[in-house]
Amino acid sequence: TKPFDYLIVGAGLWGCVFAHQAVKHGKKTLVVDRRGHIGGNTYCENVEGINVHKYGAHIFHTNDKPIWDFVNSFVEFNRYTNSPIANFKGELYNLPFNMNTFYSLWKVKTPEEARAKIAEQVRQADITDPQNLEEQAISLVGTDIYHKLIKGYTEKQWGRKATELPSFIIKRLPVRFTYDNNYFNDKYQGIPIGGYNKLSEGLLEGSEVRLGTDYFANRKELEALAETVVYTGKIDEYFDFRFGSLEYRSLRFEHQLLDQENFQGNAVVNYTEAEVPYTRIIEHKHFEFGTQPKTVVTYEYPQEWTQGAEPYYPINDTRNDEVFRKYKELAENESNVIFGGRLAEYRYYDMHQVIGSALKRTKVLFQS
Ligand code: FAD
Repeated sequence: TKPFDYLIVGAGLWGCVFAHQAVKHGKKTLVVDRRGHIGGNTYCENVEGINVHKYGAHIFHTNDKPIWDFVNSFVEFNRYTNSPIANFKGELYNLPFNMNTFYSLWKVKTPEEARAKIAEQVRQADITDPQNLEEQAISLVGTDIYHKLIKGYTEKQWGRKATELPSFIIKRLPVRFTYDNNYFNDKYQGIPIGGYNKLSEGLLEGSEVRLGTDYFANRKELEALAETVVYTGKIDEYFDFRFGSLEYRSLRFEHQLLDQENFQGNAVVNYTEAEVPYTRIIEHKHFEFGTQPKTVVTYEYPQEWTQGAEPYYPINDTRNDEVFRKYKELAENESNVIFGGRLAEYRYYDMHQVIGSALKRTKVLFQS
């Protein structure tokens, strides 16, 4: 018999949750990650007492009480509420689109006036069958919101003109007729007090962890150690890209430590004009109401993805979905390997979804 029941490839949330549930059921687990840290993209680096979200801002939100209780059993979450600000050519607007936004745009004060303004712009645009993202957005919220708050940001995110993007990217645009800047509609949201690492550390208690360890570079030796492989890396890489690469959108993060207490007064400020090359600036201390004398900010630049760059957002268009379907078929026939997580399933998962997915899988496996 082999020393471990499971070799878990990837110490991101999916792998961590799997490891925790396996250990809970008396299994021996070895977790490897090619990065030098656990937590995957939720990893935080402590700089001057500030938890810096190294792979982009992570705000936990869920409607699922058992998942909320689960994460809170490892680390207490604070009451942070995501309420981003949009900066368009120096003018500030509240997000998501709500009465505060409409007041700034048009000085309207009642929901009725705001509804009338949007309806009037939608009517004037007279778009019945939207052919692209621009037409779709305008047909939903009118020209002002589209031009000031959607167009530039979306074009930067996707690296393409809104008129060249398919309309299905935007199915609906949440518009709220209350003075409520809370970005999420979920019942529960917050940030782990002391950062996300406490969550992944708690989940990995009882597991052996090897960092800086690439599965593919050590495959034979690692597989000899465990009965079953749990793989949370890229699915195309697992199968040696035999059907071609799955495509992603990438990001470049520029972190700066500033010798001032408070740079922008909010954790998230979006830059919604096309001329500013970054999409947002994150000021990390505000996630935890920090009072440190210095501050750390991160500029987020969307990037074309090339092989070897960090894969952030899957591009679920027809071509990629078709390629993924072929890999998925192979994965289903791979014995002694369990595939899970955002990279192996080639889909965008929020943290609560990734946790839910791993809990569901382990529930079936361990029947509890
Ligand atoms: P990952 O965290 O990517 O973990 C996979 C791990 O596998 C990585 O650490 C990788 O190094 C390792 N690995 C891969 N291949 C190998 C190999 N061959 N050998 C060894 N190790 C390997 N969610 C929210 O709920 N709220 C948010 O606000 C939010 N913001 C986000 C912002 C950005 C910019 C991004 C990209 C995502 C955001 N998410 C957010 C989503 C969140 O990051 C994911 O749900 C979660 O991290 C997915 O966990 P995972 O374990 O599937 O993947």
